Amino acid sequence: MDDRTEEQKLAEYERRAPGWVVRCLRCGFTEPWGKHGYRIRGRGNFCTITRCSRCSRYCCHRVEKRKEQ
Ligand SMILES: [Zn+2]
Repeated sequence: MDDRTEEQKLAEYERRAPGWVVRCLRCGFTEPWGKHGYRIRGRGNFCTITRCSRCSRYCCHRVEKRKEQ
């Protein structure tokens, strides 16, 4: 059972891959890359095929560093 809150999960994703997001090229939705459990190799900015949690399609997602705020 996973009884963590969404906020706790997001914090863990951030620890795994700080500042990295994965963006769906189909609908533009972004979510933390750490959710997928991978470490970033090199400088990132590559594409990967994964399922989007908003449009629920398997499609190309771009992994990129979140812009500094
Ligand atoms: Zn999408």
